[in-house]
Amino acid sequence: MRDFSDAPMLVIWELTQACDLACRHCRASARPGRDEAELSTQEAYAMLERVVEFGNNPLLVLTGGDPLKRPDLFNIIQRSVALGLRTTVTPSATPLLTHAAVARFQDCGVSRMAVSLDGATKAAHDGFRGVDGSFARTLAALRSAAQVGLETQINTTVTQHNMDSLAEMAAIVGREKARLWSVFFLVITGRASASDDLTAEEYEHVFDFLYRTSLTAPFDIKTTEAPHYRRYHAQQRKRAGAPAAPAVPGVSAIQRHAGINDGKGLVFVSHTGEIFPSGFLELSAGNVRTTNLAAAYRQSESFRVIRDANRLEGKCGACDYRHLCGGSRSRAFALTGRPMAADPRCIYEPPLVLETAC
Ligand code: SF4
Repeated sequence: MRDFSDAPMLVIWELTQACDLACRHCRASARPGRDEAELSTQEAYAMLERVVEFGNNPLLVLTGGDPLKRPDLFNIIQRSVALGLRTTVTPSATPLLTHAAVARFQDCGVSRMAVSLDGATKAAHDGFRGVDGSFARTLAALRSAAQVGLETQINTTVTQHNMDSLAEMAAIVGREKARLWSVFFLVITGRASASDDLTAEEYEHVFDFLYRTSLTAPFDIKTTEAPHYRRYHAQQRKRAGAPAAPAVPGVSAIQRHAGINDGKGLVFVSHTGEIFPSGFLELSAGNVRTTNLAAAYRQSESFRVIRDANRLEGKCGACDYRHLCGGSRSRAFALTGRPMAADPRCIYEPPLVLETAC
């Protein structure tokens, strides 16, 4: 297991909350107009320097809202790439995401573009995203990326509305030759509704589908806000008599086995510069306008506590997978108000808890 106390593997930066979509689950409760309190262009450049200070070349994810709503987006990308940062971008599928914009990502040195796919059909996806035409634009952007040689990733948020069409979406991920399928699980924040979430048993069914798909898929699979997929994955490999990690791990395999979690290998910076353990866990460790990003990540009380598996409560604290998994700290906070509580969407009962109960 990697020690993430010094530097994260992922820096996720919400450049803006402005977006022309109206997704029903939106973490950021995004809206069309930009917030006047967003980091300015000069503050954005300073932010990039702070990321470099981690010294380990973390992956920088430029997200939103829709990053294309910022007119200085390409300047920020160019500065980031010039500083040597591996830079990815997650635009929204709106009329701003033209073939020319995708080609410019490639020209500027973007490592990967991620787009969202939340339904296997136009009706399902556009209904979820709240804007007609989003499905077609998503596919067009993926094909533009393939034409210009830009690597792609597809993000899917699993809800009650699409969990029965995951196989059809996996087929699209393969057909469009995405490198990674990043599967998000709901945290009830922003516009997400509790009725959209899966039960703990349904999480397990989805894990089973993802695991079986991962055995033959031509793309990598990773989960977000479901670290217990790592527990499921380890259990299955153990049952199959396979080593816990593949001999030659890909990017998602590295993340899976490194034990990344909220605030542990991951730091999120909001559009106004607030430093959070994740975009779903708004426990601020300062603001990049006044606080050094690396110092906040390494030394702030909130980040130190959240990384400490010995501070986990309930069955997560007693779990034999707590270092590999640790449960979603964002979900624990959203559903219980305690960031170190057990993840309420995990079905696993650790042996120690069972022994204690007997
Ligand atoms: S009990 Fe907690 S640490 Fe253990 S597998 Fe479930 S979520 Fe992960």
